[in-house]
Amino acid sequence: MPRDKLREKLFEAIEEIKVVDCHEHLPPESVRVARKVDLFTLFSHYTKGDLARAGMAENEIQLLSKEDISLDSRWRLFAPFWEKIRYTSYSRAVLIAIRKFYGENDINQGNYQKISERMKEMNQPGIYQRILKEAGGIQVVLTQCGRTRTESELLKPIMPLTYPMETSEELLYPPFAAGRRTGSLDDYLESCRRYLLQVKKEGAVGLKLMTQPFGPPSRRQALSFFKRIITGKAKREPPRRWPTFPLSHPLLDYITEEMVNLAGKENLVVAVHTGYWGDFRRLHPLHLIPLLQRHPETRFDIYHCGYPWVRETLMLAKGFSNVWLNFCWTHIISQKFATESLDEALDLLPNNKILAFGGDYRDPVEKVYGHLVMAREDIVQLLSTRIRRGSLKENEALRLARLWFYDNPVSLYRLTLSTGQAPVHRARG
Ligand SMILES: [Zn+2]
Repeated sequence: MPRDKLREKLFEAIEEIKVVDCHEHLPPESVRVARKVDLFTLFSHYTKGDLARAGMAENEIQLLSKEDISLDSRWRLFAPFWEKIRYTSYSRAVLIAIRKFYGENDINQGNYQKISERMKEMNQPGIYQRILKEAGGIQVVLTQCGRTRTESELLKPIMPLTYPMETSEELLYPPFAAGRRTGSLDDYLESCRRYLLQVKKEGAVGLKLMTQPFGPPSRRQALSFFKRIITGKAKREPPRRWPTFPLSHPLLDYITEEMVNLAGKENLVVAVHTGYWGDFRRLHPLHLIPLLQRHPETRFDIYHCGYPWVRETLMLAKGFSNVWLNFCWTHIISQKFATESLDEALDLLPNNKILAFGGDYRDPVEKVYGHLVMAREDIVQLLSTRIRRGSLKENEALRLARLWFYDNPVSLYRLTLSTGQAPVHRARG
């Protein structure tokens, strides 16, 4: 393939731009270091879905992460399916990561042992610094790991906006209220408020919500629902947490409304998962419109471009001033979709409303780097096309990349970072 000098030059320049990783599930580093790792740690995440869709049985997929089964046996189970999934975007992040950190260009019969050995060697304190900061240029990671104590300045927490409200146990002893018993709807709401203020004090910069068809908030209906649940009159089966989510009900609608309002007052961003996951019909981005309308003072960070409802999600940002678009997870769903939707977003939106990257990983921190390389490739692809078309100058292209990777998330989440980069110079003309 002929070399493309413009793309190479842009890629190198964009690699120098510092990054805010806008969405992960990374736990504190001590959790990762404490776990045993091998090649299959890199397949403990989204690639599991690809393996299942390729025809691998669910119980075999589970066996891949059992360290008491020999690596050889697990490799024999895995190898035929690796051939089927190796070209997906999820797998590409693995390949980029093993090339960078473990010095191998492929995964095969000849090197799965070697990769696993090298992974064990590297699984030491400092691994986050080495992968995220030194290799990736990531200055801060917004992580959702269910706790505010992340043990590192590198990880800034995002916490759930609401918790399950399906059983009397969940309502009377909310898991976020530190043993405090709640006996009434007002008690419960007060515990929610205290929780929000507490996690903010502990460093949370945002609260996470899943979009779904919320009903109009009604205190009267919420009250009656609360009473029926705690008196056992409306016994709800605890829902399966995945791949479905708790259905909206009057109590959830009401508490969500109050919490979104309070988040706005307290300057916490509401981060919203939209689209793709499990039965994604319920996660349509347009379900959010009434919330966006009722809370113009709350800033919403909309995740994943609502895939597959990409245009609908772009329109949320086009139509509502309180919406930002976060391209976390998108580059490993499909690079084609991510590149094209970012390109379209540049046509549609002011450039301060786009956030370029979030890896969306938990255990395989190496893949954050793989995903980041793919995000850079996508942005280089769309910017170089515009430069060639004559609609963008090189310095303007780099300014956009800097806004998307760093300045916009810093500004949206009001991050105070000790290791900032020089302010962006406004391009003239
Ligand atoms: Zn996520």
